[in-house]
Order: sequence, then structure tokens, then C-alpha cells
Amino acid sequence: MKIFCIGRNYSEHARELHNAIPEEPVVFLKPKTALYQPHVPFYYPEFCNELHYEIEVVFRVCKNGRYIPENHAYKYINAVTVGIDFTARDVQNELKSKGLPWEKAKAWDNSAILGKWVELQPEQLRDHRNFSLLKNDEMVQQGNTKDMLFNYQQIIANISKYFSLNIGDLIFTGTPAGVGECSVGDFLEGYLEDEKMFELEIK
Ligand code: MG
Repeated sequence: MKIFCIGRNYSEHARELHNAIPEEPVVFLKPKTALYQPHVPFYYPEFCNELHYEIEVVFRVCKNGRYIPENHAYKYINAVTVGIDFTARDVQNELKSKGLPWEKAKAWDNSAILGKWVELQPEQLRDHRNFSLLKNDEMVQQGNTKDMLFNYQQIIANISKYFSLNIGDLIFTGTPAGVGECSVGDFLEGYLEDEKMFELEIK
């Protein structure tokens, strides 16, 4: 199982981190060990001094494929949720300044939080979805998938030029503006439309 993540897929978020608007999807991966298992506590990582939440819509891949054209992309996704692409922002800034890869900032154990799945029919993939993140009962991020720079068809077509898509792979589709810090004791809740998909306490 692979976890694909799209970076800078909302223009307001790219701007808030002073990044250029990308001309094609920015893709990075997290390993399977990045997937947080909800029955254990989530601990603030010891190597990090600036842990950022990034709420994102996540799709689940349901079919193996490569070189998938945009007009066939709907066959490859059958569920949606929201998750957090946790980022050690201080580590990432250091790596970015040296032109080094991001894995130590993005791909560590438990850095991928996943909500419960909502099964999708192919025609529902076209729907735009509101999503949001609450921190200690206050809304800190709010987005809508209509504002993605690259939609799910373009993402699937682009990723599958480079990587095989396999059943069970996950695609984190990028975060909207409003990323920020969290601290030990914070309580996070992820929503897709009006439905709570996950909650998490930082220990
Ligand atoms: Mg992200």
C-alpha cells in the first residue's frame, strides 16, 4: 500500500507558505508505517518543534492501473474521507532551504491520520465537498474540493504516469489555507461536510 500526497494543490495555501503555484501536481509519498492506528495514543514527535496540521480530502484506490487517462479516473476511486498530513514544519523548512527531500518532515510514523470511509458511486466523484478541521472546538481550516488546482482526474492521470496505482493505495489531495501549529493537549476533529470523520488528541 502506498500513500500518495499532493502538495500545493490549493492556491491560497501555496501563497501562505510563499510557494509558487505549481504547473503540474507536486507529489510525494508516505510509507505504510506513516498511517496512524487509532487505538494507540498520538505523541508529539520528539524531533520536531513546530508540528503543523494539514486537513486534506483523501481518496481510496479500488483498481490497479498505470497510464490512466483522465476520463477513466472515476473507475479507480471508490471511497472518500478526510485526514491530516502532519508536517514537522521546522524540519521541512530546514530541508527545503538546503534543497533536500521532505521525508523526515512528512513521512514519519503516524504522520498520516485517516478518518472513516464513505463509499462512493462513480457519479458522486464529480461532487464538490466541504471539509474542515476544528482545534479545541474552534474551526482552524475550511476548504472545498472545487478549489483544488488539480482535480482527482488530473491527479490520477499524473500519478499513474510515474507509479502503478494499486488497490488500497491512498491519495491525500492537498490542504487548503489555514495550516498552523498544534501542541500537546490539543484536540483535533476532522469534518467532511457536516459529519465528523475523526478525532485526535495530541499527547
Ligand atoms: Mg499536505
